[in-house]
Amino acid sequence: MNINFFMPTKVIMSEECIIKNAELIKEYGVKALIVTGGNSAELSGALSDVITALQNQGISYDIYNRIHSNPSIASVYEGAAYAREIKAEFIIGIGGGSPMDASKAIALLAVQQLKEEELFSGQYGTQALPLILVPTTAGTGSEVTPYSILTNDAKQTKTSISSPLLFPKIAFLDARYTKSLPMSITINTALDALSHAIEGMLSVRSTFVSNALASESIYRITQCLRSLSPSKVLGVEHQLSIDIREKLLCGSMFAGVVIAHTGTTVVHAMGYCLTYFKDVDHGRANGLILPSFLRFIAKHDPEQVKRVLTAMGVASMDEFEALFLRLLGEREQITTKELERYVSIASQAKNRTNSKVVPTKEDIENIYTRSLTIV
Ligand code: NAP
Ligand code: ZN
Repeated sequence: MNINFFMPTKVIMSEECIIKNAELIKEYGVKALIVTGGNSAELSGALSDVITALQNQGISYDIYNRIHSNPSIASVYEGAAYAREIKAEFIIGIGGGSPMDASKAIALLAVQQLKEEELFSGQYGTQALPLILVPTTAGTGSEVTPYSILTNDAKQTKTSISSPLLFPKIAFLDARYTKSLPMSITINTALDALSHAIEGMLSVRSTFVSNALASESIYRITQCLRSLSPSKVLGVEHQLSIDIREKLLCGSMFAGVVIAHTGTTVVHAMGYCLTYFKDVDHGRANGLILPSFLRFIAKHDPEQVKRVLTAMGVASMDEFEALFLRLLGEREQITTKELERYVSIASQAKNRTNSKVVPTKEDIENIYTRSLTIV
């Protein structure tokens, strides 16, 4: 048996968990920087709960709310400078994966003078500001991973800072904060989480423990997929139950623990090109690629795919693909020139060799061709 498990983040998931556990925050200081995107922290109700908890504990705070989706390197340097200026003792990140990832880089850069060219080097000192994360999407699992994924213009893709220093001290998960998510983001983030769990199962670094968590995650998320429909608008007439929201959030967190151990595969590398060049949402990009990647694995090692399908409770690859196609709708178009460029970038990605069956450049081209409309 192969067990090698490390999860230093205290995960607390329940309704009102921030308010109920406010005293845990006190340990990290008396001045916080709250890092958010534009609207979601407020819209979800998470910001107001965090502020109440801080006020109850006599902790002062400032807010840095300039994080956009697929955060830029410039925004995390700016956030870190602000953290230093206000003498923040710790960081609270609220939002989807983008503000959470940016918070991690800010926590690192606030205390380490890293030049841009050193940012992805893996050569970091020993310090980062303590970090508390509050997810408002159910997809990235960033609240329990040691990764901060930033847009890397020099390489025309997205690149990850990876360090145990980036594990948050606490992750507060309250599914009520995901109730304000529109259907499209609910679907895309669910597909991201499912992709993490499945890629984790297919990874060379998978272990007994990561597989157990991946199966749980896959089972929970798949149960919810049937309630999601791109044609439904979430609003007064139609809401997802809190039970579904909790299953998605918990499944996403489990999948985060999985990739914290296994990393992702070429699916993510291929998806990054779609995000970088075509602005395709991160979760959707993975959802587009995953079925064809799984078919590729099935050709070489059907047993691995069978384990994934069993965890999902679906009978065949055809059923798996139909489930995804229903959620994804019309697929994106790319030109043959774009295809060539994406194949070249994705085939150089580190995580290409992270799956038990390693795709060649030609395999990557075939997976893209099967996943998208080539014009
Ligand atoms: P996101 O980019 O954080 O957010 C997408 C959109 O959803 C934003 O417009 C955001 O609004 C909105 N939103 C968030 N929560 C909401 C809520 N409760 N109600 C209404 N709208 C809400 O999306 P994401 O899919 O969660 O994160 C994707 C990022 O995570 C990518 O950069 C990806 O590379 C990264 N990622 C990281 C890891 C990791 O381990 N670190 C793993 C997977 C993915 P605001 O702009 O107002 O916030
Ligand atoms: Zn992802």
